[in-house]
This record gives sequence, structure tokens and C-alpha cells, in this order.
Amino acid sequence: MSVLSKGLIFEQGPIRPPSEATSLLLRFTRNCPWNRCTFCPVYKGTKFSRRSLAEIKRDIDNAAKIVEEIRTLSWSLGEGGEITPAVVQQLMIDPRANECHRHIAAWMYWGTGHVFIQDANSLIMKTDELAEAISYLKEKIPGITRITSYARSSTLARKTIEELKMLKDAGLDRIHVGLESGSDTVLKLVKKGVTASQHIEGGRKVIEAGMTLSEYIMPGLGGRNYSREHALETARVLNEINPHFIRLRSLRIPDFVPLAEDVKTDKFVPLHDDEVVREIRLMIENLEGITSTLTSDHIMNLLEDVEGTFPQDKPKMLKVIDDYLNLPDHERLLFRLGRRGGALRRVSQLNDLSLRTKLERALEDLKKEGEYESVEDVINDLGNRYI
Ligand code: SF4
Repeated sequence: MSVLSKGLIFEQGPIRPPSEATSLLLRFTRNCPWNRCTFCPVYKGTKFSRRSLAEIKRDIDNAAKIVEEIRTLSWSLGEGGEITPAVVQQLMIDPRANECHRHIAAWMYWGTGHVFIQDANSLIMKTDELAEAISYLKEKIPGITRITSYARSSTLARKTIEELKMLKDAGLDRIHVGLESGSDTVLKLVKKGVTASQHIEGGRKVIEAGMTLSEYIMPGLGGRNYSREHALETARVLNEINPHFIRLRSLRIPDFVPLAEDVKTDKFVPLHDDEVVREIRLMIENLEGITSTLTSDHIMNLLEDVEGTFPQDKPKMLKVIDDYLNLPDHERLLFRLGRRGGALRRVSQLNDLSLRTKLERALEDLKKEGEYESVEDVINDLGNRYI
């Protein structure tokens, strides 16, 4: 007889940062309370809502019960409480198992102990309620080693250091912020609803409260008109914050976001991939006096090996960029086709003869099918698949 309870579920939201791929995802609020950023496709058409503490605790209880049930299942299969292929297989065929069972099984299998609180701005919750929910989570689910959440800078800037310390003491270790740009012009242009000074204030407070701060930057967000300002001002703001992590997530513009309308009316002129790379170079060049670690772990970035810790790895990061920019036009085109198509990840892979032959053939076929522009369209469409 199955040891699993039917209908045992907890709520989850639609996204998490790439670095939370092995985290347990639990939803404390629903959707985004701002939801007006013109480049953001995630919560459009949805309404923000809060969840009561009782509701959140019920979800935590259910997640805790699922952890216990999966351990029991493992023991009953003779697997000693471990999450082995036999346990996973049983979860695939047991009619009582649901998505939440499978998510928790994967989390237990990875064994990171990381938890990510969803959705877009959990810190909008009353501080004491959020602290209580986090403490409850740590009490009910054993083995949690890190708890993280998204937050908006405007919300962080409004919190006192004491409030943020209360959250840290309860167990909130890391905050991910969508900084996107340090330029007030760009922030206004894309309706981010936050100023550069709020980014600085919010970010500094998180660090002062003892939490790890991860700032997401969106290369390309200034378009052609504000690319330089976007790069320089973002570097300035990051220099003032000195976050633990700077994470690049390059702009893509699917048809269904408001920014696509600005593209149609020429209010916003998107950058070519190579211009985005130059913009990132300008920003990195101007990052000074910080000790942050920069990562490029998002699939939308062209060069994922632009990564390292300041100040020592700055020359290495600039070299990765220069090695790409110094390639002949044809090589850069080939690399972009391969990267956006998922065939390669690093420029050095162009030296792989069989891969290169395949890419050359694909490029020839595309050129035969139409004009040169169609190759750019294809590369663009391939990139948009990851949105
Ligand atoms: S605040 Fe974040 S989640 Fe909300 S609309 Fe802007 S980018 Fe999207």
C-alpha cells in the first residue's frame, strides 16, 4: 500500500533565479505587486495577492509531511532513507504522487538544503510575519542550510536595518534584487518604479543587515540611445553598493511585453548582440573598488564565461570579451548561431571541427533560404526560445 497521501500540495510560483535551480520553491506571496516593468514578461495579466500566515504555514506543514513520506517510502523500498533511482521511479508510478512530491524528492536528492521564497517581492510582507514564516520553515523542515528571496529595492529601502536584521536572524540569508540599471533615465524609460538612489540605499541596507546580496543587471536595457549611460551609471551604482554578486541577464524582447510596442514605434532601438557585449565591457571597465563576484549564468547572455571576482579577475573578464570582439565577422556570426541554437557555449568550441562543420552547413542553408537579414532573424528567434 502507498505511504503517500493524496492531495498533499503546496503552492509554487512561476520563476526562480538560475542559481536557485536546486532549491525548494515555496510561495509566500503571489505574483508581482508592481508588475509594470515594460521588459518583463513574467507576471503580465496576473494580479498580486498576499497569502495569510496561516496559509503559508499550512503549505510548510504539507512540504514537511511530504519530506517525511518520501523518507518513509525510501525505507519501505529498502533504500535506507536515501533518494535513489528506485525511490524516484516509485514516485513516477505511484498514483498518489503529485508534482509537489516530485519537486521535494528532487530537492532531497540534490541535498543542497537551499530554499527559495517566491514570488517577485516577498519582503513586501509585514516584517514580523515574514520572520515568523521563515522561523517556522526552519523549525518544521530539517536540514535547511540557506533561505533566499527576491526583493524590490524600493521595498528594501523602506525597511529599517533592525527589520532586515530581524529577517536575517530568523534565517533569511540572501536577497536577489532586479537592479537592471543604475541609470535613472533607463529605469524611468522601462517603468522600473525604482530610482538609482533607492537601489543604493536598499542594497547597502541588505549588506549591513548581514545578508548576501545578489544584484541582477540587464545589459541592453538602455537600447541604442542610452547604452553608454546605462553602462556607466550601472557601474557607478554597483561601485557604491559593492554587492556580493553581480549577475548578468541580457535583455530579450518577446512580442508580448510592452517594450515590444516601443520597438515598433522606434522609441526603443534594441542593441545587436555585439553592441550588448561592448556595453558589458564598458560597464566592467568602470567597476572599481569592489570585491563582488560577477556571473553570467543566464542562458540569455551571449558570453557565459565572462565571470570572476573583482578586482583580481577583471583583466580575465575583459579578455574573454575582447577575444570575442576581435574575432572576424564570420566567426562571430558562427558563434552566435551556435550559442543561440544551444550547440555551443564558449568561443573556444569553434575549434571543434565537427561542430564547426555543422554550424557552417546550417549557416549556408540559412543563407540559401533568404537574405542575410534572415540569419539575424533566426539567431534572434533562437535566443527568444529561452524566455
Ligand atoms: S518588479 Fe520584477 S517581477 Fe515585477 S514587473 Fe518588474 S521585473 Fe517583473
